[in-house]
Amino acid sequence: MKKYLLGFSLLLILVSCTSQKNISTAAGDIVIHSVNVIPMNNERILANQSVLIRNGKIETILATTSTQFENALVIDGKDKYLLPGLTEMHAHVPPSGNMDEMKDVLLLFAANGVTNIRGMLGHPKHLELRTLIQNGEVTGPRFITSGPSFNGNSVKSAEQGAEMVKQQKAAGYDFLKIHPGISKENFASIAQTAKEVQIPFAGHVPFDVGVWRAIGAGYATIDHLDGFIESLVPGIESVTEKENGMFGMGIAMRADTNKIPPLLKALKENNIWVVPTQALAERWMAPIESAVFDNAPEMIYMSPGTRSQWQNAKNNLMNAPAYDKDAANHFLELRRKLIYELQQKGVGLLLGADAPQVYNVPGFASHHELKYMVDAGLTPFEALQTATVNVGKFLNRTDIGVVKEGAVADLVLLNQNPLENIQHTTTIEGVVLNGKWLSKQWINETLKSLEK
Ligand SMILES: [Zn+2]
Repeated sequence: MKKYLLGFSLLLILVSCTSQKNISTAAGDIVIHSVNVIPMNNERILANQSVLIRNGKIETILATTSTQFENALVIDGKDKYLLPGLTEMHAHVPPSGNMDEMKDVLLLFAANGVTNIRGMLGHPKHLELRTLIQNGEVTGPRFITSGPSFNGNSVKSAEQGAEMVKQQKAAGYDFLKIHPGISKENFASIAQTAKEVQIPFAGHVPFDVGVWRAIGAGYATIDHLDGFIESLVPGIESVTEKENGMFGMGIAMRADTNKIPPLLKALKENNIWVVPTQALAERWMAPIESAVFDNAPEMIYMSPGTRSQWQNAKNNLMNAPAYDKDAANHFLELRRKLIYELQQKGVGLLLGADAPQVYNVPGFASHHELKYMVDAGLTPFEALQTATVNVGKFLNRTDIGVVKEGAVADLVLLNQNPLENIQHTTTIEGVVLNGKWLSKQWINETLKSLEK
């Protein structure tokens, strides 16, 4: 807290120096004035700023006392906090041809301040959707999309895997999604071809491949911490995939934490980014009764069919003979430790909640994931970095995930300070999505219309 007070007093000096300057506005501009800016490139708050948004970009940020801006849409930001829009790096846009279904998911993200998503299960229609979003014809977050899944069923041979890589590259997908079930040989062919045609690959680490081979092959991101626990278990060669369970849940008790440092070192040295999707583990795999999640208010946005699927998925997992409460808790604790250590050792972390998937509702889930990052030991600022400035670094875009002049105008306006309490990220007053203002009223009406 002291740090922020210091920030405020510094800002008072800044205000007095610059208050004579002003912003000249034109039709179509948006100005958010008197607002506390959290730029996210450093841990600080810039008090009493006016932020001018023009043509989808942040044009000017200025400390000024003026609140009169002719012709512009003027938003009073007094006592509010403006930060970059959030990115969900492990999103699922329904891989169906149904545009309405896809649009609903996009709106859930946008209404929650998620202005950028990476779709983790592609479909040819997603390419069209990406263009419609870019052109402003569909309201939704910026959309990075994988192609259809590479898995044990879709890839039967090394040649076929290589061919699929070339096809997806030619089709214009942003990256390849790796799923379980791929053999070592087929994976090697996919990875080699991906390198040749220059398309990144990301996602799961197939059990047969293992995390060390995945690191060597140069994953863009490893998601779900997949393969991490497996790499900590001595004698993993004799463990079957079934025994291993989801993300090593079945063998977490046997993990040797002395093996964590070399894993982190290799991830860092090879510039592999990590998307933990801890929300999936904390909600689906945790020994918590499904009723706790069934009754969460955001479940209203999922269809009854989806809700009962999720309930079944959780109950089936928890009722399976191999499920053990203590082992599940140990598994979750080990994952939290891994997340904390990844952050401490400077491995790039990116926020991903894996929604819509078991008890993770698009948009809402990203806020839960922020909380789970803090529960794992990250500070609120570090957790927010995973959803903002880290994303810019990952994408090699200095204009994404920060509030600064020249950056894209993807912003979220909060009523309470998220650096004090990460759960304040849900106090959304409005969102700027690619330069367009989504008011509290728009958010409420949109959410109302999406109730199932
Ligand atoms: Zn997923």
